[in-house]
Order: sequence, then C-alpha cells, then structure tokens
Amino acid sequence: MADYSKNLISFVNKSTTAFHAVEELKNELNNLNYEQLNETESWKLKPNSKYFVIREDASIIIFTSPKKVSNKTSFKFIGAHTDSPCLKVKSNPTSSKEGYQLLNIEIYGGVLLTSWFDKDLLIGGRVFTENKKGEIEKHLVTLPFKVRVPRLAIHLDREVNSNGFKVNPQTQMMPILGLDDKVDFNKVLQKEMKTKNEVLSTDLFLFDSEASAFGGMKEEFIFSPRMDNLAMVHASFEAIKTQKNSNDHFQVAAYFHNEEIGSNTQNGADSNFLEATTKRIVANFGLTEVELLQTMAKSYFISADMAHAVHPCYIEVHDPNHKPLMNRGPVIKSNANMRYATDGKTIAQFKQICNKAKVPFQDFCGRNDMGCGSTIGPMTASKLGVPAIDIGNPMLSMHSIREMAGREDHNMMVKVFDQFYKD
Ligand SMILES: [Zn+2]
Repeated sequence: MADYSKNLISFVNKSTTAFHAVEELKNELNNLNYEQLNETESWKLKPNSKYFVIREDASIIIFTSPKKVSNKTSFKFIGAHTDSPCLKVKSNPTSSKEGYQLLNIEIYGGVLLTSWFDKDLLIGGRVFTENKKGEIEKHLVTLPFKVRVPRLAIHLDREVNSNGFKVNPQTQMMPILGLDDKVDFNKVLQKEMKTKNEVLSTDLFLFDSEASAFGGMKEEFIFSPRMDNLAMVHASFEAIKTQKNSNDHFQVAAYFHNEEIGSNTQNGADSNFLEATTKRIVANFGLTEVELLQTMAKSYFISADMAHAVHPCYIEVHDPNHKPLMNRGPVIKSNANMRYATDGKTIAQFKQICNKAKVPFQDFCGRNDMGCGSTIGPMTASKLGVPAIDIGNPMLSMHSIREMAGREDHNMMVKVFDQFYKD
C-alpha cells in the first residue's frame, strides 16, 4: 500500500494554525492548476474542471466538476475541520509580573490543558496592519522565538501526583515571553513582518514547536500535534487532489474552521459556506433550485473526524463491544441520539466502499452512562438534506498538545476516500 504518512507529517508540520493549513492547501492546488474562485465575484464554471474557494483564510472548499452536468448529477462530499484546540493570544497581549513578561491567552476549544505545560511553544497566525493609504493589510506570521508555560516544581507541590494536576486557565496558563517587561509586543510583530505600519489586530495562536514524528517499535504510530483533524483533511486531500473528473458527480472536499468551538461562525460548518457554494455551483450549470434539492437527496456526505481508540490503561471508558484499535481501519461512529450523522443506510453504503477498497472497518458506539462528542456531520446533514455518515481514524491523546495515531490507518483512509470519489 502506498505510504501517505510521510506527506501527512510534512503537511502537519507546515500547518501550524488553520490559516497556515489553508495556505498550504492553496499553494498545492495552485501547483495542480486548480482555479481559485472568489466569493465576492461571479463564477463561470465549466464541466470537467477543478476549483477551490476560500472563506476567511481558514476554511476551504475544493471541488471538481463532472464531464457532463445533468439532473442525474450528484455530489460526493468529504468534510473535515482545519482547527485544533489550542491557546489564543488575547487582544491586549502582555502582562508583567515579578520582572517576567507574560503572554495573555484565551483557551480555544476543549484543550487538554495539562499537556501544554513544559512544552516549547511557538506563536503564529494572522496580523492586520494599516498601510500609508489607510488600507488594511493581512500578514501570515510565525514568530521566531519559543515560549513556555512552566510547571511548578514537585518540591513546591508535593501532592500533585496523588491529588491530580488542576489548572486555573486564567492565572496559571500564562506563557513566559521573557525577562524584559518593557518590550512592546506590537513592535516584535512589526519586526517579524518587516513593516513600520501600525498593528490593528491579530488572530494569533500558540502551537507545539516539536515536529511530528513516527513512533513505536515498528514505527507504526504517528506522534504529532493536530492529528484531530488535520489527518482527515490530509487523507481526503490526497484522495481528491489528483482525482480524475467523474462522468456524473461533483467531487468535493470541504474543510471548515471553528469545529472545536461549535462551528457556528462565518466559516464554520454551521455557516452557509457549503450550502451557498453548492447553490452557486448548480446555478452555474443551469440547474434549478428544485433540481438542486433532487441532487442533494442523491448525494452522500462523509464527515471525517478522528475517533477514540481503546486505551489499554482505561478500558472502562469504552463500551465493551466497541473498542476500536489503531491500524485496523476506519471507525464508523454511531449514536442513537444522532450526535453523529450516521444511520443504517449510510453505514451500508460506507461498508460497500471499504469492501471495494479492500480496507477493513471498525464500529464505535459510546457507553450509555457517558456523554458523546459530536462532529460537523449532523449539522451538515440537516442543513443540506444530504445522507451523511461520521467516520474517522482511531487515535489516542485526543486534544492533547501531542496526539497519537496509526500510520497504516492513514494509508487505508486515503484508499477509501479515493474509492469513494472515483466510483
Ligand atoms: Zn475533531
């Protein structure tokens, strides 16, 4: 089987924030001669062509048009998210305390906070400045120095191993920038951007400076930040990027920002981004609104997001009959209360795709006495009226600064997605 895991590692290393991830995808799509569309302009789409559209720098929809568009046409969607839980720099970025200069941060999403201590962290994202003409300019930046949130020494916190490590996110999650508390953070940004223009605002996030790597005795694992959910972005991107245009269906990969904070934003999965894009696409090919509804009912949406592998030291948190293992293939996620979009019909269709691709699959249902996570699946299914399924590769340490996934799972997922698009 082809090994896509090296490409995944290189993609994750470059995709340090959602903005950087979309920038990476954009660069590769440009090299592959995909045409970029702009939401502020009118589109003139052609059959047998390849396109992408970006919203707010952090969400992207990539699609190919079929050789012929008719009322038989359908959409094959794969959706994933570009963001991961992390720390975000506050509007007033610095404080000084006891001679230290500290970074003021907010918690973005469901961060496993303890994992961010004693890690070498970098800062990156978007910065907006005003130029001499009064225009707003945007910069994608990564600052050249590492910062750190230090743990308290065990000598000063003797009970921590038995009592648990509790974190106050306001008073204790304060990365140390340095010992010079006179430094102006905006000047640091200006120096990095090589401009004297005034900094108006930032969307800056912290991330792990340590690169992704293979691990395990047989290098069967990937140890990496942001596996949730850049692994699914990458697997579907590998499948779509060189896909041949289909005879009769649109192939779509949609990657949204803000899943980790509920998706209800301008470019989250709960926005109109995908709905508006599909409307514009079919209108361009002369289909009516009713024909669009017919098209959606014939389509299929794979919501791809990472899944929980069974943890050997915490088996009790899994349902005893649903314990996915790494490197055993995609996990189909089901929930009676539809926290996942999966139903019997969409499972049947997905299993057929796996069988054709000669890839095994696993089933996941949570325990009845525990809560269940959710994904972009249910909101997309209800918004578009499209049959949908939630699937993903099994992993450990989800939402830790450094997660762990199976290398072979990634290759198997690319195969399944490739089969899905080309069928
Ligand atoms: Zn996720």
